Amino acid sequence: MATARDDPDDRATTGRPPSVDALARSLADVGLPFAICVDIAREAIAAGEPESAAARALAFRRTLLMPVVNATGVLLHTNLGRAPIGARQPERSMNVELDLATGERGSRQRAVGQLLAKLCGAEAAMVVNNNAAAVMLVLAALAFDRGVAVSRGESVEIGGAFRVPDVMEQSGATLVDVGTTNRTRVADYAAAIERGRRPGGSPVALTMKVHPSNFRVEGFVESTSVAELAALDVPVVADIGSGLIDANCPWLSGPPPAWLAGEPGARQNLEAGAALVTFSGDKLFGGPQAGIIAGHRDLVERCARHPLARALRPGGMVLAALQATAMSYLDRTVTRDVAFWRMVATPVDVLRQRAAELCASTTGATLEKSTAMPGAGSAPGATMPSVAVVIDGDHLAHFRDRAVPIIGRVRDGRTLLDLRSVHPDDDVLLGAALAAR
Ligand SMILES: *Cc1c(COP(=O)(O)O)cnc(C)c1O
Repeated sequence: MATARDDPDDRATTGRPPSVDALARSLADVGLPFAICVDIAREAIAAGEPESAAARALAFRRTLLMPVVNATGVLLHTNLGRAPIGARQPERSMNVELDLATGERGSRQRAVGQLLAKLCGAEAAMVVNNNAAAVMLVLAALAFDRGVAVSRGESVEIGGAFRVPDVMEQSGATLVDVGTTNRTRVADYAAAIERGRRPGGSPVALTMKVHPSNFRVEGFVESTSVAELAALDVPVVADIGSGLIDANCPWLSGPPPAWLAGEPGARQNLEAGAALVTFSGDKLFGGPQAGIIAGHRDLVERCARHPLARALRPGGMVLAALQATAMSYLDRTVTRDVAFWRMVATPVDVLRQRAAELCASTTGATLEKSTAMPGAGSAPGATMPSVAVVIDGDHLAHFRDRAVPIIGRVRDGRTLLDLRSVHPDDDVLLGAALAAR
């Protein structure tokens, strides 16, 4: 019980600042652990603003991870965790590294590796924490102290800290720049390999193709295909990044959507002769954050045996979610069970119907055509038709402040809630937020 002396409201009568303890206890309703409330109370008192403690506590609570509604129309929104996944697991141990047949220690990579290999048409596959880690591991395991030939046009930066020259340096491999920014021919790679074989040269262990995910070069450009590189006698590694398993999208009922044109598929790259492909689990694959290495068995095994593999290995939760995603592909239930592809496959008429219902129950809201995007740096310039509920004014902060925050976008002073990236069950949340503005 707070005594009269501890009561934060007591300050008005005594003129003394409240005790940290009393102020912290007054924050109980915010729903934060008491130890955190004590820190917040201390900060507020130190700042000479004890009355700000409640606002500080609420602000802190909003920094916790929580479910949000993605109404941006960017389906794989990096700030919102890319592909939404609904993995829910019982509170049980898992046979992460136990072989149930023998009772001996097993490999955490075995099952998910087999499923992923099957999907991409590879001999073998393994999983690490993200694609940056996959590239790093491949380079460290297969090209340490040796050269990797990369076109100057593909020595790219893909969002923040993933820059090809930097990853190369950290892996212990040496970047061998070939060709020019706009044109690189197979002869350029062949010459680099040849130079590396001369006395005193640095041998080229790999050629690498990097998908320039988030930009496009147009005009006088020429690049070398994986098939051409595969004719040279060093293994080709293709960092396809985006995680499209098969460019033919056999899991869709129709042909691949137009916005996927030119997006490299893991299967096609391997068929063209890539020795390995690397890609993200949480981009077009639609699974949890992970990096996948798939291709020739001997090379995958060398990656798996490298000491870095242990440092980069994912936990059981990620492996289970990835396994579930891979199973959906193999079972052909992708458009039902993989959120990203379900959003892609939703007919625009269905979105229009949902938007019409929201607009009917909201004064001042209009239904408008919109364009959604795959996001996560995949397929630059790619858009798909969508529908948005639009209201005048910038209401982003109001929507973010909801118990389940809603993330929209603002254009020309109006707020757009794009329905393609919203789960239909969440329309009711949008309706309530629109009504409460
Ligand atoms: C996205 C991407 C990466 C980085 O992948 P993460 O899973 O975010 O680490 C690397 N290379 C390419 C080509 C990419 O598109």
